[in-house]
Amino acid sequence: MNLADISVFDLREIEERLELHYSATHRDGYTAPCGACGEQVTQDSEECSCCGTPVVWRNSWEWKRLYGSSEQRIRELTLPGPDEDDELGRELLAELGRAGFANTSQKKRWDKARRNISEKDLRGMINHVLDGTNKRGVLSHLLNWTDKVVREAKPKSKSAPQKGTPQIPSMPGE
Ligand SMILES: [Zn+2]
Repeated sequence: MNLADISVFDLREIEERLELHYSATHRDGYTAPCGACGEQVTQDSEECSCCGTPVVWRNSWEWKRLYGSSEQRIRELTLPGPDEDDELGRELLAELGRAGFANTSQKKRWDKARRNISEKDLRGMINHVLDGTNKRGVLSHLLNWTDKVVREAKPKSKSAPQKGTPQIPSMPGE
């Protein structure tokens, strides 16, 4: 998701715009128009009640009380996620407690693995890396492995078609 797809509001900007008309006691009651549909969005909103666009309020006590750090939320929302029909990718990220891939290059490598490795083999590889005691770096570990599998599964010549599923090489470093 891009930053442009999120409605980001800043209570301080409202305060600066209203100047003397700004009321500190009315602080939590100010609203702003959704960037996508124009519906007025309140500070207790996680998403627009009309169109579902994610909402982030900066400098709002109310929003922060309910949802935590606005910058953290923006970072999470803008991380690349798995494709819409990629159930396995969603499962993997949920298992790792991650909101998305670390960057677009990591997502591209995962998509490549999805295209070239059967779901059954991929699941086996995921279970294998998840068995490790250290969950940090699991995703880059897995992607190093899938990169290697994809590379080595490429047929060497057209005259000798491969039969059956390619051999899954062992994980790098084993
Ligand atoms: Zn909206």
